[in-house]
Amino acid sequence: MNIFPEPNPLVKCPKCGQTVDIHELLDGTVDYWDAADVIIVKTPCCGSRQELRVATGELLSGRVYAAGGPKFRTATAYNVPIKVRHSRDGLDVEFDDDSKLHIGQE
Ligand SMILES: [Zn+2]
Repeated sequence: MNIFPEPNPLVKCPKCGQTVDIHELLDGTVDYWDAADVIIVKTPCCGSRQELRVATGELLSGRVYAAGGPKFRTATAYNVPIKVRHSRDGLDVEFDDDSKLHIGQE
């Protein structure tokens, strides 16, 4: 399900339903689980813990589950204006205003 057909920086919080900007959302990253390629964020709207996977042009909201290794089940897919590159120690995210965010393990 993609609720926004065009690239849009707004993502809906799965917990409280508020829309939040993807930059603000990813600024709340508390952990990156590289084995599952999943980002754990604390949402700016209600402080809930969410599991996300990001790729260029895409943000997936969902949940990690174990099936012979960590797998990710997508609940909602968003078409977002970001570029994502995997680096040695995490992810480099570039937003459409050219600002950058590094997500990695401490
Ligand atoms: Zn929320």
